[in-house]
Amino acid sequence: MKTEVINITTEYERALEEASKCLKNGEVVGIPTETVYGLAANAFDEDAVRKIFVAKGRPSDNPLIVHIAKLEDLAPLVEEIPEKVKIMAEKFWPAALTMIMKKSDKISNVVSGNLPTVAVRMPKSDYARAIIEACGLPLAAPSANLSGSPSPTNAKYVYDDMNGRIPLIIDGGNCEIGVESTVISFAENPPRLLRPGGVTLEEMTELIGEIVVDDAVLNKLEEGATASSPGMKYKHYAPSADITIIKSDFDTFKSLCESENATALCFDGEEKSLSCPAVTYGDINDGFSQSARLFDALRELDEMGATKVYARCPDTKGMGLAVYNRLIRASGFKIKVI
Ligand code: AMP
Ligand code: MG
Repeated sequence: MKTEVINITTEYERALEEASKCLKNGEVVGIPTETVYGLAANAFDEDAVRKIFVAKGRPSDNPLIVHIAKLEDLAPLVEEIPEKVKIMAEKFWPAALTMIMKKSDKISNVVSGNLPTVAVRMPKSDYARAIIEACGLPLAAPSANLSGSPSPTNAKYVYDDMNGRIPLIIDGGNCEIGVESTVISFAENPPRLLRPGGVTLEEMTELIGEIVVDDAVLNKLEEGATASSPGMKYKHYAPSADITIIKSDFDTFKSLCESENATALCFDGEEKSLSCPAVTYGDINDGFSQSARLFDALRELDEMGATKVYARCPDTKGMGLAVYNRLIRASGFKIKVI
């Protein structure tokens, strides 16, 4: 299959027309969002959704997020809209926020990975919402990477992973946020945070009160444990390089990297005082700049052939929780406290 790439920033009308045509025909399209690129298909078409799993090589019990453009699009997807979801939607949507509810019978088990629930998001990206509106369909879409590799934050990375596997990629430039959405379940009370992302735990708690943080957010799931969010049990965000997170001050980090010939994954500016190879991932005090850089930095480490990587540890407050959650997975939970 030949994969066409259309730039929506320069060919807006044609991009919407072609994306809409493919999606209505039951094909899979790579689309830009503000979090990471998505691999989208008509959420109401089981055969189309199955193609997503094939293109990604994704295990079929790992459910997809359904993307909508307007609040009215939510009701048909769910059994009922809980009060707290209404409050959250009013305040945050469109945003990097995915909310899980009991699914309606319009959502097939292919989308929900056989769970009785469905995950729904209204993306902030104007391009993503324009594509959803153009085809008039809710779009099931996971991240547009091959299963197991870091989520793609630009169209080139989607092409690298999906060339020959899907007919169309819409290029909307770099993703502003750079890590996947916050996932929170309202299928239980109090709600449970399954994955930290662009809308922070602190912001949500301030609005709706108690939120339980699922164990898998900060810890490795035990062998055989049941995951609240099936995606958590799979190896995720992993570059080929072997990464260890170093919890220490900068001077200790520097001597460790230099004495062991490692590649450093450090904060902006720190590379100037390192004599070893280094890749940076944002400002030490700004979780949003770290998230915008993290997945690119992981791919860059692979491109430069790094084998042994020592990473600086981010703060876990605010957006930092999402950055830390991805980095511990990229490192296979290897953390050294010095
Ligand atoms: P991705 O789209 O690749 O970012 O993955 C979507 C994430 O949302 C996965 O980690 C899923 O496990 C999670 N997810 C989607 N639907 C549900 C659901 N109904 N219940 C729990 N987690 C879900
Ligand atoms: Mg993913």
